[in-house]
Amino acid sequence: MIATFPHMGNMYIAIKEVFRGLKLEMVSPPPVSKRTLELGVKYSPEFACLPLKINVGNFIEAMEKGADTIVMGGGWGPCRFGYFAQVEREILKDLGYNFTMVVLEAPDSRLSDLLRQLRALGENVSLSQAYRALKFAWDKLKAVEVLEKTLEFCLPRAIDKALVEKHFEVGLRAIDGIHDPKDLEDATLRADQAMRAVPRSDEPVLKIGLVGEIYTILEPATNCHIARHLGRINAEVTRSVYLSDWVNDHILGGWVKKSNHKYILEASSPFLNYAVGGHGRETVGCSVDFARRGYDGIIQIGPLTCMPEIVAQSVMGRVSRELRIPCMTLYFDEHSGTAGVYTRLEAFVDMLARRKRLAGGAAASGPSPSRSVENKAAIKLNMKG
Ligand code: SF4
Repeated sequence: MIATFPHMGNMYIAIKEVFRGLKLEMVSPPPVSKRTLELGVKYSPEFACLPLKINVGNFIEAMEKGADTIVMGGGWGPCRFGYFAQVEREILKDLGYNFTMVVLEAPDSRLSDLLRQLRALGENVSLSQAYRALKFAWDKLKAVEVLEKTLEFCLPRAIDKALVEKHFEVGLRAIDGIHDPKDLEDATLRADQAMRAVPRSDEPVLKIGLVGEIYTILEPATNCHIARHLGRINAEVTRSVYLSDWVNDHILGGWVKKSNHKYILEASSPFLNYAVGGHGRETVGCSVDFARRGYDGIIQIGPLTCMPEIVAQSVMGRVSRELRIPCMTLYFDEHSGTAGVYTRLEAFVDMLARRKRLAGGAAASGPSPSRSVENKAAIKLNMKG
């Protein structure tokens, strides 16, 4: 058995550790690329969500590398994710691939259920070994997020932005390569300090909250790497969701770390008082939270036709008006073009900077247009084919 899994940002680092701990042979799909998307688009229904198409591309590329078992998350609720595993299985079977699909259903609060599902995957693995695998994977996930948050802080402030990104990538590779839990903290600290040591400019930094559908937020290849681009034009991005928060709230029953999920759901009221599937309600609640915390603007992102985000978008205008915070919504699909998306981001950031200047904000000016153009020349964010 050679197992594989779908990509979602840097989640692969933790998943690989789970598989290693369960003594499973595995292949990681190549990073999401233009080819991944082309394969997914070619073989998926046109109206399917973008994440499903990318999953299909991931699985085809992994099976080309020898995978014969797909481990996929299950789900339920009023949106299409609950059908992903079944639809993907049918598409791949129709294409003639011979494989087994294992669907891990989200236990929603019972860790013992998850351990049992994981243990069933591993050969001759005890419950305590499955627990240790899960614990090490969790620690790697947190280490990755420490670096992601440091990158979000340092990138907009750094003079040499490419150097910060380089330290981040080196740090990720180091965390990925660690097999002994004792080495994890040192590697994380080294990369964190290297990013913080890059000299900073005194140009003003705008703060932008990034809200929306979880996959589009966590997998930069689906959103034209907008968080990186915003960082490069001196805007600090804070995401509404980090994978460890989602895992803590939905898989580990909220007992591993302090959760603000209840607060976020309450914050969505009176704008949206009920669950609409996916992260629709969280999108609204997090937008309210960002406004309360004095952020300069909000960007909502999601895959084109994402039902929960469309519902959330319908109340974002009211959130924006009543809480006096500019909001912009961007949807992504296989036709999204980096140049068009970046132009809209730069216009939004320029507008936020002017608005702040007129309001007499401490940050008197945003990135100048010439600065944006200068940065654009240095950006190579197109998906690698
Ligand atoms: S949340 Fe949106 S993108 Fe994700 S499965 Fe549901 S409808 Fe599709």
